[in-house]
Amino acid sequence: MRERARELVAGIEILAHLLGPERVLIGIEDNKPEAIGAVSEAVAGTPFMVVSVPTLYPSGGEKQLIQILTGLEVPSGGLPADIGVLCQNVGTCVAVHDAVLLGRPLISRITTLTGEALQRPMNVEALVGTPIKDLLAFAGLDERRLGRLLVGGPMMGFSLADAAAPVIKTSNCLLAATPEELPAPPPAMPCIRCGDCAEACPASLLPQQLLFYAQGEDHEQLQAHNLFDCIECGACAYVCPSSIPLVQYYRAAKADIRDLEQKQQKGRTLTTALRAAPGTPAQGRGAERSRAQSTCGESRTRQGRTGRYTGRRRSGTGPGAKTGPERRAEAAEDRGEHGSDRAAQSRETTGRTCDRRARGPGSAVAGGRRRSPASAGCGAAGPACRERRYRRQEGQDRSSHAQGTDPQAREAGRPNADQQAELARLREQLEQAERAVASAALRRLRHPPCRTMP
Ligand code: SF4
Ligand code: SF4
Repeated sequence: MRERARELVAGIEILAHLLGPERVLIGIEDNKPEAIGAVSEAVAGTPFMVVSVPTLYPSGGEKQLIQILTGLEVPSGGLPADIGVLCQNVGTCVAVHDAVLLGRPLISRITTLTGEALQRPMNVEALVGTPIKDLLAFAGLDERRLGRLLVGGPMMGFSLADAAAPVIKTSNCLLAATPEELPAPPPAMPCIRCGDCAEACPASLLPQQLLFYAQGEDHEQLQAHNLFDCIECGACAYVCPSSIPLVQYYRAAKADIRDLEQKQQKGRTLTTALRAAPGTPAQGRGAERSRAQSTCGESRTRQGRTGRYTGRRRSGTGPGAKTGPERRAEAAEDRGEHGSDRAAQSRETTGRTCDRRARGPGSAVAGGRRRSPASAGCGAAGPACRERRYRRQEGQDRSSHAQGTDPQAREAGRPNADQQAELARLREQLEQAERAVASAALRRLRHPPCRTMP
């Protein structure tokens, strides 16, 4: 903000031109007077307003900053856009300026190098992908004094196991701390339910309850207690007299829930893909009926003439519905055409006749139940198929076509080699997803959360 205030304001102007906001507020903590001065100078002559906000951790969080600046509260589980607000980081605004006015993509990041193990702490503009160890060497790292290396600040940062990791677009700070500066946390003790964490939480959550449900892996309760509103600020863990690493519990629980949801979503997608894949038997009467209506010549004819084959409910109720005697008369007509009274009744019930042709031999399903290959369709065109089926029912036709073993007819409804390979792959993925969901459910059964706590 101090060095690139003009680029910052130019980036804000581009965003304001695109979004047309009623007002633009630039919040800067009150312990940064130089930055406030530089940005105030740069916004002179624009409608933008610089607002000094109290330096109170974590007032820099998006939701907290919005509340401080506007008095509006982002709803639980919602986004700032839900209340008509857009909150952008100063780094993003400068990146917009670079991309739009200079044509330069986001290839670098301003990173703070700090900590008592560094001889020359500084801010650097590092190219994305730069190894962190190179930056630390540039700042004069004294490896003998290094205790912990964090990416991010002391409250929200992650410990880094390997300094060969690269700088990414979110690497805002590297903290090379000595053991005295950042001592190892004492061993965690049981929660004494003092409530200090709840008082410190800027998101008005109940951290001790979240801890309790996270330990029990009770995902439903975690979500009911708004786990995903936690901004992982670490304020609760900082004040906890039992030194419980609360944020680590929340991070792990969030990762578990996201992982499980992804697997469930994947399972649903795969199930849908499998059902839609060629050669897969249709499930349920609805699918059966829609296939029958789209492929069966006889069914279409009947629909057009009498409207009876779109299903019993539609033919039995509403305007134009047939009375009992009318339906019986039509059934008698069917019996005349198709011979078997039972077959006519069946057709009336299911609204299907030659739908078997669409799926080929061995794949017929009636009301969600599979039929045996012997009673499946032959794959021939409507009238021929009907004829052969009736003859087969009477034991008159023993040809391979009527038995459903005609290779040509079978080939017509069978997936090709590529489709079969794809089907096998999808089935394998579905089984994996189902196993993962089942094992998660088993874990929860083995370690049910205690329900006696309030
Ligand atoms: S501050 Fe720590 S000990 Fe106190 S209620 Fe919260 S988790 Fe429990
Ligand atoms: S880390 Fe703790 S204090 Fe911070 S938002 Fe989450 S529960 Fe609240």
